[in-house]
Amino acid sequence: MSEREQTPQVGEATIAEFSASLRGTVTQPGDAGYDTARAVWNDMIDRRPALIAHCSGTADVIAAVQFARSNDLPIAVRGGGHNVAGNAVCDGGIVIDLSPMRAVQVDPARRVARAQGGATLGDVDHETQAFGLATTLGMVSQTGVAGLTLGGGLGWLQRKYGLACDNLIAADVVTANGQLARASAEENPDLFWGLRGGGGNFGIVTSFEFRLHPVSTIFGGALMYAGEEQIRKGLRFYREFSLAEPDELTTIAELGVAPPEEYIPAEFHGQLVLWIVLCHCGDQEAAEECARPLRAFGPPAVDLVGPMSYMELQTMYDTTFPAGQRHYWRSAYMRELSDATLDMLVDQMIKRPSELTFIDLHHMGGAVGRVGADATAFGHRDAPFLIDPVPTWTDPTDDERAVAWGRGVAAALAPHSSGSYLNFLAVSDPEASRTSYEAATYERLAALKAKYDPTNVFHLNHNIPPRP
Ligand code: FAD
Repeated sequence: MSEREQTPQVGEATIAEFSASLRGTVTQPGDAGYDTARAVWNDMIDRRPALIAHCSGTADVIAAVQFARSNDLPIAVRGGGHNVAGNAVCDGGIVIDLSPMRAVQVDPARRVARAQGGATLGDVDHETQAFGLATTLGMVSQTGVAGLTLGGGLGWLQRKYGLACDNLIAADVVTANGQLARASAEENPDLFWGLRGGGGNFGIVTSFEFRLHPVSTIFGGALMYAGEEQIRKGLRFYREFSLAEPDELTTIAELGVAPPEEYIPAEFHGQLVLWIVLCHCGDQEAAEECARPLRAFGPPAVDLVGPMSYMELQTMYDTTFPAGQRHYWRSAYMRELSDATLDMLVDQMIKRPSELTFIDLHHMGGAVGRVGADATAFGHRDAPFLIDPVPTWTDPTDDERAVAWGRGVAAALAPHSSGSYLNFLAVSDPEASRTSYEAATYERLAALKAKYDPTNVFHLNHNIPPRP
């Protein structure tokens, strides 16, 4: 039975009373704005909640959790709405929507930012960059800070300063009992451990506090290499190059199709290409030196690398990832990259299901790998690489083909992979979530879930069922 069929009917008077108790608003089927409010970034997701509670603050979130529990309504939680599995919305049930809660405050002296639970990466970067400060966040400014941080949070500063979750100092959380708890190294440290990688399992975070670092002008951008032979050689070159990177340098190799943009010579439009995208957050001269081998290799057909503002880098991908396209993301942590694996990726891209499809190869390590395996809930820190096959398309009649392609690449990577990244899971089932953790971490998370959410109130997520 679907969640919609299981959802109990809530009387109109009860809903009206709940609505009147909020500072925010409630949207129901039939209301103007219902379809916009239930839409998420991935167009594959088409779910119809019974109620959407647009919260204006922590009091509304507490009221919404208590209302949902009293009326046996399944709860979905929305931050930025970017989750590919569509966890921000449900069929039937209630969406507790934090997207109106986007305020960010910066204390430049303490180098701390406090962001509400619905803030986007762009909201945080905008406020912190006013003081020449930043923390690691993801690569598209519309992504939600909440989902990104709770699942880990890869970003351009990760090798120098760690993941987004590694920069979390404290969080305010509405837990399953409808009460507010503070999580930090001093208060509820077990909860604080679980929030840093355990996803949305332990409650609704209404506020995050992040450690900030001095970052303003960086050296970054993208280099493009073309031609099948060059691409195959380029991936091998990238493997060796990235393993020797200093911490200041974070890089991604991306196999994709060159778009018809004016900064790309017309002869490459529509061709399979290799991009190496980078951010060096240290000294500019050292950065130039780091990029020298990348410029000498090939040479690249397009070179868009140089000094730029951090904001420029953080919004560079925004137009590449518009809402309203169809997606099926998979990922695989890799201890090593064999020639055969690299060639398989190229072969698969030659058979790509759509021109928007791409494969990313993230180099991890640096500060990410130096955090102890049991210090946070984030898994697979020892893997130097993460590969994401990302089928992306627009026509629903291509769904089957594109999903089959994503599954095929994931299956080919699986024998060499230690697991997958929680935030790149296209499906939400507990077996998929389990692959994001080492066995000991998963057991600890399941026990923590039993403590903070014994009846699995927060189950519409990358779920970790409670195990006492
Ligand atoms: P939502 O869909 O709103 O929420 C996802 C889930 O997070 C919810 O179901 C809930 O379980 C939980 N959640 C949301 N808000 C809260 C809250 N306030 N309290 C508790 N739980 C909450 N990941 C990276 O690591 N690095 C990247 O660079 C990166 N880039 C991306 C770019 C794009 C275009 C997209 C679509 C995704 C990207 N991701 C990246 C993946 C991203 O981290 C996940 O999709 C993440 O879930 C997005 O968070 P959100 O708040 O936008 O999601």
